[in-house]
Formats: sequence, C-alpha cells, structure tokens
Amino acid sequence: MRKLLLLITTLLSISQFTCAQNQVGVWKVKNGKIESNKSDNNELGIQYWECIQTILPHDLLNKYVLSLRLFSDGKSEDMGGMNQLDETVAFWQIDLDTADMNIFTRDSIQILDYTHTLIHEFGHLLTLNSSQIELTDDETENPDRGYLTTEGYAIKESYLNRFVEAFWKPKLLQEWDRINKKRNKKKQADRLYDFYLDHAEQFVTDYAAESPEEDIAESWTFFVLSDQPLKRGMKYQKVKFFYQFPELVKYRTHIRENISFVPLSYIENFKQN
Ligand SMILES: [Zn+2]
Repeated sequence: MRKLLLLITTLLSISQFTCAQNQVGVWKVKNGKIESNKSDNNELGIQYWECIQTILPHDLLNKYVLSLRLFSDGKSEDMGGMNQLDETVAFWQIDLDTADMNIFTRDSIQILDYTHTLIHEFGHLLTLNSSQIELTDDETENPDRGYLTTEGYAIKESYLNRFVEAFWKPKLLQEWDRINKKRNKKKQADRLYDFYLDHAEQFVTDYAAESPEEDIAESWTFFVLSDQPLKRGMKYQKVKFFYQFPELVKYRTHIRENISFVPLSYIENFKQN
C-alpha cells in the first residue's frame, strides 16, 4: 500500500467512518488480459490496465495479478495498494485511486507521483509473492525461520529476508516490533513517526519506516527511479542492494524505458509531502 505520510495514517484511523471510498469498478484479469464486465466504466478500466502494462514488467503481472479495482477517496489519503485476494500469496489485486492516479493528466509532478505509486506496488508483488513467502500459522516469530511478515515467513533467500538481514539489525527490528504491536492505532502512528525521525538517515522516505515490507518497496522504487547512488549511508545502500540481482536490473531498465520521463537525481530531489 502507499499512503501519504504516517500522520495521514493517524487521520485515516480517526476519520475512517466519514471518509468513504467510491468504487469505480472491479475487473478480472486473466493471463495479463483484462476482462470487460457489466460496469459502465469498462473503457476506463481498460485504459488503466493498459497504463499499468505499459510501465510494469509483464511476467509477474501475468502470473499473479487476477484483478484490478479502481476507487476514489479523493486526493491523497489511500492512494492504492497491492492486495491479496485470499490467504495465499499467489493471487493479487491492484487497487488504484483514480484521483491520485489520474492517467490523463499532463502535470509532470502528478505523473511522477503515480509512477512512484505503481513501482512501489510492483515492489510488494515482487517481494511478497508465493516464490518469496512461505505461508505459516505462527503468530510469533520463530527466529530460525527468518523474518515473519503478515503473510508468512520471508524465505531465506528471498529479497525481503536478505534486505532485513542486511539493514534491520535485531535491535532496530525489536524497537519497531514493539511499536507495531500497539493496539491503539493513533499511538502506533505517532510512535512510528518518532521511530522514523530517530532513524531518518536510514530510510529513503518517512513511509519506508512503517515496516520492513514498506521499506523494501520504497527502496526498490528509488532503485528504479534514481541513478546509482554514489553517496555512502544506509539509505543509499538500500537503493544499491537491488543491483546484485540481474533480474531486477532488467526490470529497472524495462520500467525506465517505458515511463514518460526519468526524473533527475530522484533520491536527492525527492520531497516528502
Ligand atoms: Zn506499500
């Protein structure tokens, strides 16, 4: 999922009953092809799917994405997500807010923003699909089995487990875990934002500090959109992490060839909202 600012998570949890989502449509996707249905918005669904397919590599989309859902809660707030269709991690739905991702805009800032969202969501598909995650009923983490996500254990050689081993030292992970277990969502969001501020030099954005899953999705996005960083420091190391995987370098090239423009020095110029 991608949301603006952790603070907005706080607002969302307070105002979730007043901030309704309008559903635009839901479409089945089969082997990478969208299927029309009785929706009045079929044309729109097809245009969004074409936009997704233009930017993102097809192999993972074709294999795992079975549904596209368009909705809107207005600008900002919930911008979209990559969501499991059932308790397995083999079937996924892409959810997109048509107000945040206006594919018809010519505004370069808006285009870059939704491109970031699409690449971020692809990052979740890349790191949480069934080749990466082993399902489990464990509620508490068994340290011998690696990092436990909401979906299951990150397989030892998975991108996420390697990322956590490299960048989330046990002390940091424990600190985050204590915050993540808080039941009061407002307090949890406040503490997460403090957690980000305490470790800001380690994260590419504030949202990356929300969890290791968001951290890898955000770092992956900067890997795709930024030049190879020359600077030292953990947030730059997180971006460089992906260069060790030739298949991810190919995905990066593919995406960069298919977006409207590649931003200049993205990691340096990125402004938190
Ligand atoms: Zn996300």
